[in-house]
Amino acid sequence: MTATGSVGSATVDVLTVGYAEERVAGTVTLIRDGALVIVVDPGMVAHRSVILDPLGALGVTPEAVTDVVLSHHHPDHTINIALFPNAKVHDFATTYEADIWTDREPGAFDLGDSVRLLPTPGHTDQDQSTIVRTESGIVVLTHLWWTAEGPADDPFSHDRAQLRASRELVLELAPSLIVPGHGAAFRPDPTTPI
Ligand SMILES: [Zn+2]
Ligand SMILES: [Zn+2]
Repeated sequence: MTATGSVGSATVDVLTVGYAEERVAGTVTLIRDGALVIVVDPGMVAHRSVILDPLGALGVTPEAVTDVVLSHHHPDHTINIALFPNAKVHDFATTYEADIWTDREPGAFDLGDSVRLLPTPGHTDQDQSTIVRTESGIVVLTHLWWTAEGPADDPFSHDRAQLRASRELVLELAPSLIVPGHGAAFRPDPTTPI
């Protein structure tokens, strides 16, 4: 990844849009960056077909997924990891592959040429955001927002200042699109809660 705002070559396809109401489902997203086929947050959904059918429609088999990225460790974003038998799994600090546990250097991690993982604590202490450079700008996948509306004060957050700092860090990247944890992708604007 080079300068902020420069275009990249990755593509982003939201597989299913999450919600957090009486029922809970996470937003699940596919990123393709060169040879990398990445699923972000394969968590709770009404049925696994909600993930697998749109993936198949994009020409991707579960076996072809090379990497799974977790925004954080709540089960609504992790419970379907095992759908992808060949994938390395990346949380905020560690990469897991088969029986190999590899702690990464602290800080940002370039997963691919156009995909960067950035620690963004706030919702939990173990959150990260996925920063993707596409032809149409920066796309950020993150649980710092559940939906475009926030919530402004995340009820899970132990540290409001930390949540705000991470939100500001993401907004400073001037993303063209944010893919939140439980809602549709949105373009940040001055009403976006920080
Ligand atoms: Zn969570
Ligand atoms: Zn969640």
